[in-house]
Amino acid sequence: MTDLIDSFSRRINYMRISVTDRCDLRCIYCTDRFDHKLRHDDILRYEEIHLIVQAAARLGVKKLRLTGGEALTRLHLSRLVDMLAHTEGIEEVSLTTNGTHLAQHVEELKAAGLSRVNVSLDSLKPSRFEHITGGGQLKDVLAGIEAAKEADLNPVKINMVVLRGVNDAEVLDFARKTLLDDGWHVRFIEHMPFINGNGRNGTVAVRDIMSSIEHSLGKLEPHFPTSGNGPARYYKLPDAPGTLGFIGAVTECFCAECNRFRLTADGHLRPCLLDDDEIDLKEPLRSGADIAELERLILEAATRKQQQHHLRENGAPEKRQMWQIGG
Ligand code: SAM
Repeated sequence: MTDLIDSFSRRINYMRISVTDRCDLRCIYCTDRFDHKLRHDDILRYEEIHLIVQAAARLGVKKLRLTGGEALTRLHLSRLVDMLAHTEGIEEVSLTTNGTHLAQHVEELKAAGLSRVNVSLDSLKPSRFEHITGGGQLKDVLAGIEAAKEADLNPVKINMVVLRGVNDAEVLDFARKTLLDDGWHVRFIEHMPFINGNGRNGTVAVRDIMSSIEHSLGKLEPHFPTSGNGPARYYKLPDAPGTLGFIGAVTECFCAECNRFRLTADGHLRPCLLDDDEIDLKEPLRSGADIAELERLILEAATRKQQQHHLRENGAPEKRQMWQIGG
């Protein structure tokens, strides 16, 4: 087996797969337009995703995360989970979701082989949640989180994108959730200025989030989770059952440890979230490419992976927004 190692000696063993660009929410920081959706025919079929994953697994990809758009808006997602979880070499299939439809699907997803779930949640206040998401109902997401815990899709991680002047006043409320008996695992994510550079002033640095938590709730003790640790740095408040993670996507560059590729819903392999370079896998697939040819294209993508992103020099992806890539 040839290992998937990029030009900077980083081993790629993780792939995030967007299964749709459609979403039932309209988060203010994620999109400024949801009108140009992909046509049904442009979206990879489950069998096509499976073939790409088989090729990637032969090159050493072991972990997959399904995302979107909103992955649970795609019909029979558990069928895809089942296919991927039973692919030779794949050790884990997880899901990032806004949680609105999680409660009704969690059992079938678990039965199909889903290992874990991350739920995006940016406010604990129903009216603010509705504002941020363009009409979402907080109670649906909370029900989804509870259902995921009951189904033992643990640890259920709650991802909050901290937006200056919008929800930053709730950082302590989220942090307090880690102190409860069934302590939440909360991760604070810096807002990345995707949409034409807008929102650059909206990024709240993780160091500021950390100091406000330490100031009010006590010293953050470093914590080293055994599984599922990506770019986040983890801590715990004293005696907290839950954990706090911090993802400094803008102010802290963690590209040196990057181990991932992204596959867009229309079949483009993206070596870096924050770089527009992509390799089209769908067209070759539909022209009859076999697994060996897919492997060759995936290896080529590794040679094109950038050393690091350029957010701090005002560089941001221009061709696609987050909902079109898969966060
Ligand atoms: N619909 C799913 C969800 O809400 O989790 C998956 C797709 S969504 C694009 C994935 C994640 O990207 C969410 O946690 C969302 O908050 C995050 N996200 C979107 N735009 C972002 C931005 N500009 N900066 C940081 N995170 C962003």
